[in-house]
Amino acid sequence: MKLTVLGCSGSFPSADSPASSYLVQHVDDEGRTWRILLDAGNGSFSTLQRVVDPCDLDAVVISHLHADHFLDVAALEVFRAYHPERDLPVIPVYAPEDAAARLNAATGNTCTTPPGASGPALKHEVLADQRTFEVGPVRFTAREVRHPGPAFGFRIEAGGRTLTYSGDTDSCDSLVDLARDADLFLCEAGYIEGRDDHIEGLHLSGRRAGVAAQEAGAQHLLLTHIPAWTDPQIPMREASEVFEGPISRAELLATVSV
Ligand SMILES: [Zn+2]
Ligand SMILES: [Zn+2]
Repeated sequence: MKLTVLGCSGSFPSADSPASSYLVQHVDDEGRTWRILLDAGNGSFSTLQRVVDPCDLDAVVISHLHADHFLDVAALEVFRAYHPERDLPVIPVYAPEDAAARLNAATGNTCTTPPGASGPALKHEVLADQRTFEVGPVRFTAREVRHPGPAFGFRIEAGGRTLTYSGDTDSCDSLVDLARDADLFLCEAGYIEGRDDHIEGLHLSGRRAGVAAQEAGAQHLLLTHIPAWTDPQIPMREASEVFEGPISRAELLATVSV
């Protein structure tokens, strides 16, 4: 698998990056490349187009319905519903319940077929704890995590390799389950210890991300969702104090092989 960072700024777009969004790509045995958009935070549809033609997406997977993970699904819907040259197939959007209604609330549409379009651009699939689904050869397992929501993290498996994505979460058992022996653990670190201790049940700190990675036996920790007001060296340092493996920080347009 290949993971490309389309946005990694925590909670809101920064001057340097859109909010959370990633592209997961995997080439199957026949040589077909499968392309899955993992979260679509505000601003990320711009960088998506620098990496791949949005015509070529196979599926969208959304961790939760906060704007910094979901809002640019509205841009994707416009792109696919009204493309002047291509009659694009409907693609699935795996997201928490109410995604269709929340999308319509953002766009002002009243049904899944945007006004004047020939049909829906997206097929909404509702996530639930422990739900598994496949996009071609890529297998997803969703687990509910600890964040206002519902909110989900994912274990993503293909070609004998495992990528885990935390979504947004505070420490919880399901996060450790998702990351068990993962080759790459893409994990949020929205908070830092001390400064953010008064808010519980929303985000991990670098330290709490590192503890989860260590407990899970993850091979490599990739920290993301660091907000513009946080010096990224702080969560990196926190994580390094508790996780023994290699730690990297997600950077815009970086690609990591899993
Ligand atoms: Zn977020
Ligand atoms: Zn959130």
